[in-house]
Amino acid sequence: MPFRSLDSFVNRTGSLRLLRLLLAVSVALPLVLFAGIGWRERSEAQTEAEQNGHKNALILHEHVLKVFDTLAQVLDRVDERIRGEDWGAIAASEALHRYLRTLTGELDQVSAIGVTDPEGVVRNSSLGFPPRNLYVGGSAAFREQRERDAGLLIGGSITDPVSRKPSFGISRRRSSPGGPDGTFDGLINATVDPDYFARFYQRVLNTDGESVSLVREDGQILMRYPAFGFDAPVMLPPDRGLLAELRQRPDEGVFRADSYVQGVDRLFAYKRVGDFPVYVVYGLDQAQVARGWWRNMALDAAFVAPATLALALIAWLAYSRAVSESAAVRRWAEEARNRERLEDALRQSQKMEALGQLTGGVAHDFNNLLTAALANLHLMGRLLPAEGQRFLAGANTALERAEKLTRQLLSFSRQEAVNPTVVDLGDSLRRMADLLERSVRADIALEWDIAAAPMAVAVDPVQLEMAVLNLVLNARDAMPDGGRIRITAGPAAAGLRTARIEVVDTGSGMPPEVVARAFDPFFTTKGVGKGTGLGLSMVYGFARQSGGNAGIDSRPGAGTRVHIDLPLTDAPPPATPTIATAPAVAPDQPLRILLVEDNALVLLATVEGLTLEGFTVETAEHGVAALELLEHDTDFDLVVSDVVMPHGVSGIDLARRIRERWPHLRVLLASGYSPESLATMGADTASVLAKPFTPDQLAARIRTIVASTPPDRVRSGH
Ligand code: ADP
Ligand code: MG
Repeated sequence: MPFRSLDSFVNRTGSLRLLRLLLAVSVALPLVLFAGIGWRERSEAQTEAEQNGHKNALILHEHVLKVFDTLAQVLDRVDERIRGEDWGAIAASEALHRYLRTLTGELDQVSAIGVTDPEGVVRNSSLGFPPRNLYVGGSAAFREQRERDAGLLIGGSITDPVSRKPSFGISRRRSSPGGPDGTFDGLINATVDPDYFARFYQRVLNTDGESVSLVREDGQILMRYPAFGFDAPVMLPPDRGLLAELRQRPDEGVFRADSYVQGVDRLFAYKRVGDFPVYVVYGLDQAQVARGWWRNMALDAAFVAPATLALALIAWLAYSRAVSESAAVRRWAEEARNRERLEDALRQSQKMEALGQLTGGVAHDFNNLLTAALANLHLMGRLLPAEGQRFLAGANTALERAEKLTRQLLSFSRQEAVNPTVVDLGDSLRRMADLLERSVRADIALEWDIAAAPMAVAVDPVQLEMAVLNLVLNARDAMPDGGRIRITAGPAAAGLRTARIEVVDTGSGMPPEVVARAFDPFFTTKGVGKGTGLGLSMVYGFARQSGGNAGIDSRPGAGTRVHIDLPLTDAPPPATPTIATAPAVAPDQPLRILLVEDNALVLLATVEGLTLEGFTVETAEHGVAALELLEHDTDFDLVVSDVVMPHGVSGIDLARRIRERWPHLRVLLASGYSPESLATMGADTASVLAKPFTPDQLAARIRTIVASTPPDRVRSGH
């Protein structure tokens, strides 16, 4: 089995699949890895941003704490300075005003310092002298300090008296002789310079999207950098964001939220400023975090992408190459298989050809013997008394069988005299229904499926009938327990000018080795005396002879399907031929015949027979002898000649020469060949009589020919 290894070679779909997988992996794996790395880097970037945020919050916190401490000290110093002085003296002291102004000037973080009496009137300040006696008694901070000593109190957002920017104040009680629980004796307050923070943060923060806020415990934003750009104090919502976060972690923390003011996703880190109810809050846009991550990913991609592309390209090249290679291998295998099939078919047809020639040769010899035997029996019949006729009839029956067998043999060898007629295939088959029904047993159902369209084929109708009968008989034999036989006829395939007869049975079927030989003549699997092995060979011969083909499709146990393909013809069916009858009148003078036959037995018997029929017979043993004889005697009504003869002059050659030299002479060829095949061999001018024949058949034929001979051709001798 050369194809087994070939097939395994071709069936490399497995390795192709592997390559396809490799291709997919070479693309998918880097992508997955990249996605994994991206995901990790993203969470790392987030963590890092949070850590940085926290760090920043701590640093900023230190700064704010220092500012607040400084403010506390400043307020302490002012308190020190005015200790013991009454409010009248304080209000009248320009020195105090100067002192306050100097302090303010020295400290960047303070924009103004003032002292407020218990009634809420600012009695002296850094802003101007004499003081304008500004009333601040209504402010929340003042009221709170008057209520109790609130220590260093961070007031709400106010507008800075110098820069008119949003700012906040910080205040403490003026020390009174009674200590913290003593009577309220006014406040010392300072306003924080908002620009101080702005300047500082401007220097410290360098990234877009960063922000710093100072937020009072109650959610009021005291100060923000960059500034919001509106004056009204901003209160954070109590239920989310920072205030919600503070409930969980009151000291410091990191969280993510939509910024209250701008509505963008931000990262926040906060820290409480010392003991003050104030938080420093550092904010960073999440977009900024994402931007950093994207930058990293782009950098990674710049390295990964070319490598991935190269890998994928290599895998793709390998794959497409393997694909084209395997396609080539498949093509090659297909070609090899085709060639093998062709060689098989050729071998088969050569075998059939050889068998045909062999069978044809045997059948021809047989025909001669039969002709001789028939002639002799015929002669014997004339002489035998009545009681012997019975045996003669027996012998004749046997010879008839032999004749039928020879016909089948010749039919296979395609040398039998065929008589093609244009018939409608459907009609012919329908006419056979009765015959076929009678040939099958009752347990077998015959089904018909014949296309309605006319199918004109040029065949020998008798042979067609025989072929179909043979197929039905085979089907019957294959179904000892009954079954179904289906006979179909129709176009073989769309577009083909071919009709197909199919005989399908539900019988035992055939193994491949039987299928391979079933068309061989004499091949049979049936017991001795049951099968001749000539049925299918006849079918095959008939199909080939009619320009078609036959085939078998069968498997053991799966029934058998035999088809005969016949070429469709356009020729019209012939008009019913008028049967030429031999003239009833016997010739007034005996007809003179030249009989050319190389087979002595046939020659003798035929001469006897013709003589008995009243002919005068001259003989020649072969064509050459006949030509020699004709040189000095052409006075014959007819030359009857065998076709196959020795010495280089066949019956056909003889007929041709006679027509050339003695055109008035008629020739009758006796042969097992069909008139058509003889015609193609060049015997178109001669009449043909199929072998074997009885002397009376020959005599009748001779008379017919002579009777139809034009008068000018009639022998003139007597
Ligand atoms: P015979 O019928 O005389 O044996 P055939 O030439 O008709 O000769 O058939 C040759 C062989 O092919 C048969 O002996 C049989 O083994 C096989 N065969 C033919 N037709 C069928 C069929 N319809 N089902 C099964 N086997 C078949
Ligand atoms: Mg048979």
